[in-house]
Amino acid sequence: SKRTRLDRFLAKHLQVPRKQVRLVLLANRITVDGDVVREMDYQLHEFDQVALDGQLLRGDKPRHIMVHKPVGVVSATKDDIHPTVLDLLPEEERHGLHIVGRLDLNTSGLVLLTNDSRWSKALMAPDHHVAKEYLVTLQNPLSGDYIPVFRDGMYFGYEGITTLPATLEILSPYQAKVVLVEGKYHQIKRMFGRFRNPVVGLHRSRVGNLILDSDLPPGQWRHLTSGEIAAL
Ligand code: URA
Repeated sequence: SKRTRLDRFLAKHLQVPRKQVRLVLLANRITVDGDVVREMDYQLHEFDQVALDGQLLRGDKPRHIMVHKPVGVVSATKDDIHPTVLDLLPEEERHGLHIVGRLDLNTSGLVLLTNDSRWSKALMAPDHHVAKEYLVTLQNPLSGDYIPVFRDGMYFGYEGITTLPATLEILSPYQAKVVLVEGKYHQIKRMFGRFRNPVVGLHRSRVGNLILDSDLPPGQWRHLTSGEIAAL
């Protein structure tokens, strides 16, 4: 993992010369994760909490959060018009978080937030093909003809790409479960658009091994368990 020398971090952060950093360390004023550290060459890890006289200088511990995004909430950290997924969290949880895979304004379901960019990069890497499961409600009845078209891929001229194999399972005349391993712009809506069948409801129920907690009503959130973080 990413490491930094403690004296280099302190010199830069406190804007003082290395010599002065040494005095601060020898005065037992610096703690790393709560323990006094005196060594100039101490190796800091990415998420270590560094404090001077008990005041945190750095050290967001990794946080991983699932949110049940309601329709009408934006997958962004800032927006001038609509509430954002960050607004669903208490103030003290918001700092440093970024969104792992956005949903459209009128899509509901599982959105992940984290400050752990290595984790989110692994989850979002295009070549990792992490499965994303959606429950789709359509305006017109479905037919079995859709299945091979979703499986074989559709050409999108605007981007010049063909979609990767997707599974479509018909749940009822107007409802389908679709699993994608990518996330192109408005992908599900555009795929059903090929059949001139407008999507009237879209809900993401799963990302990889992470299933939206059924105990989590729209607008609610919780921290992931360590098992869920590792289950990627
Ligand atoms: N496909 C869409 O069209 N919208 C989403 O929000 C997600 C997938």
